[in-house]
Amino acid sequence: ATEIRLASRPHGVPTDENFAIVDTEIPSPGEGQILVRNLIMSVDPAMRGRMRDVKSYAPPFEVGEVMYGGAVGEVVESNVDDVKPGDHVLHQAGWRTHAVLDAKRFVKVDASAAPLSTYLGVLGMPGLTAYAGLLESAEFKPGDTVFVSGAAGAVGSLVGQLAKLKGAKRVIGSAGSAEKVRHLVEDLGFDAAFNYKDGPVAEQLHKAAPEGIDVYFDNVGGEHLEAAIDAITLHGRIAVCGMISQYNATEPTPAPRNLSQIIAKRITIRGLLVIDHWGLQQQFVSEIAPLVSSGEIKYSETFVDGIRNAPEAFLGLLSGANTGKMLVRIAE
Ligand code: NDP
Repeated sequence: ATEIRLASRPHGVPTDENFAIVDTEIPSPGEGQILVRNLIMSVDPAMRGRMRDVKSYAPPFEVGEVMYGGAVGEVVESNVDDVKPGDHVLHQAGWRTHAVLDAKRFVKVDASAAPLSTYLGVLGMPGLTAYAGLLESAEFKPGDTVFVSGAAGAVGSLVGQLAKLKGAKRVIGSAGSAEKVRHLVEDLGFDAAFNYKDGPVAEQLHKAAPEGIDVYFDNVGGEHLEAAIDAITLHGRIAVCGMISQYNATEPTPAPRNLSQIIAKRITIRGLLVIDHWGLQQQFVSEIAPLVSSGEIKYSETFVDGIRNAPEAFLGLLSGANTGKMLVRIAE
């Protein structure tokens, strides 16, 4: 078996040195446990937060310990009723090839209902984040003009498509390459998109949405948030999902400089954590899964092969190497 441990805490942009790849014995399941062979694992921006030694909604990774995160695997041995070898399970013991799990620590997933990878992406945590964030946190309504940053990523790509399907007047996305901008408009049906590296976000957003925006779904923070506050209309709503432009910052970053507009425009800014929205999971899956299988909602995945390349996948995620969900294929 192989596992990835946190070797040291990064200062700024993480590097290979922060990870240790360690070969270990395959563990044995005890009473009430299963042994899982992991097939696919997720790397997520929030893992950058867990590399820090600060109190947050999720406990930090410990230096010297194996990291964790979403994964799907195949049951190899089972001492749990109703779970048998060959079953597939979703759990939080990623970053390793094999895991022993208590019965409470996994849920079974159906490989015949949807590709296993989708339980980590469009039908999983990032999908629910997009769904709950747009519909509840941002209080989306038909006719809204919606701007989403990080639009070619796992969360952002679903936010934009959902807004279109649910009757947005106009959907605008930003992303970090010309190819991603093309993908948003030509493949995913965004009305407009721009590459935030091409020039000031405020100027590009103004061109894409000359009449302003009603909703901003923030995955990026910083300059994007400032531009959105400038562009937002009266009673506009901002769902703050992530601020990835700041995750590697070594100094406190300047807030948007235009917060006083919150008053005159009566802006609602609401932070969003997917863990508060598990109650929507059933509704989300029953609504979105059919749209995914019919192709009305499209999703992309970027795979990196091999557990030893999991750090590379994570570093790539932070620098935009992915279109759609970034995943590591651990085994076939
Ligand atoms: P993505 O699939 O969107 O991958 C991250 C993307 O961020 C990269 O592909 C890159 O795309 C972009 N990025 C990296 N650095 C910057 C930068 N400096 N400025 C702008 N964009 C940047 O990841 P997810 O869909 O999983 O997550 C998207 C956001 O949602 C993150 O902020 C994450 O923390 C947040 N999140 C929050 C949750 C919650 O409960 N609040 C739950 C899940 C995710 P590009 O090429 O466009 O730069």
